[in-house]
Amino acid sequence: MNTRSLRRALLSWYDANARRLPWRVGPADRRAGVRPDPYRVWLSEVMLQQTTVPHATPYFLGFTERWPTVSALAAEEDGAVMSAWAGLGYYARARNLLTCARAVASDHGGVFPDTEEGLRALPGVGAYTAAAVAAIAFDRAANVVDGNVERVMARLFAVETPLPDAKPELKALAASLVADDRPGDWAQALMDLGATVCRPRQPLCDRCPVAAACAALKTGAPENYPRKNAKADRPRRHGAAYLAIRKGEAALVRRPARGLLGGMLALPTSDWRAAPFNPAEAKRAAPVAADWRSMGEIEHVFTHFALTLQVWRAEVSGEVDGAIWTPLAEAGAGLPSVFLKALRRGMALI
Ligand code: SF4
Repeated sequence: MNTRSLRRALLSWYDANARRLPWRVGPADRRAGVRPDPYRVWLSEVMLQQTTVPHATPYFLGFTERWPTVSALAAEEDGAVMSAWAGLGYYARARNLLTCARAVASDHGGVFPDTEEGLRALPGVGAYTAAAVAAIAFDRAANVVDGNVERVMARLFAVETPLPDAKPELKALAASLVADDRPGDWAQALMDLGATVCRPRQPLCDRCPVAAACAALKTGAPENYPRKNAKADRPRRHGAAYLAIRKGEAALVRRPARGLLGGMLALPTSDWRAAPFNPAEAKRAAPVAADWRSMGEIEHVFTHFALTLQVWRAEVSGEVDGAIWTPLAEAGAGLPSVFLKALRRGMALI
């Protein structure tokens, strides 16, 4: 199979099997001249960088209903957008999202630039997002390479170099398949192939439109690609979170704008450090003197470390620094997942 037949096979497969996604203009509509909304493409790409399609979909629908245009999003207050983002993880992306929306609104009259270079120049837009929006929204022949596409390339060409060292090689291989013919559909066809057929475990090679070209399939064990360096364990951190209750209300605090979960609502916590806290230390780190009771601990995995968070609870009478007193029944709304878990543990719900 040469490059032309490989492209033709994958695009035909996409014509028949494209996933229906709320931000996508499918191949038939595209052929009929329907153009994707760059705002929706951009928003979906930012959301999908950290999570899966099923998880991102309700967030995407909620955002686009509430803020139907990039200018509407740009005009919103930070806190409302951060709260709506809660649960999508990686809050730096939500901050970047707003910075970018405001730049598009103020510097470009609410219209996204239509080239990869123009998009890349926007604040908070990385190489991947610029390529994806250029290809999908504007049909530019951009090389869109995410983890799915890396996996497909590693298998199609049986690349022996392990990840992450293989990244430049995989990117170059992907670039060798990009052409001016239907670049937006091509990028999405590769994404769909990686997500639904060339899956990380148990690829469905018998349904694969490019199986005849696949070098990894010929080895008999395509799932062994991409090769990987042995992974270092994620470091673990420890901390304590405090559910302080006063007259049926919980003390929530807003985290500093910079840093992990920046600007998000949270339970008060100790520092997070390498060594576990003993009970005396945990009580000393509490935000107010009270009869603190241990409610157990929760686990949460962030991108760069795993966290074990002890949860402590007390009825308090004094003030808690910076507290936003919130009725217990409403305290979960707008909390990021780690603190939602801690709250639920503090309320003995899990
Ligand atoms: Fe992936 Fe199998 Fe297709 Fe190769 S034949 S690209 S391993 S699904």
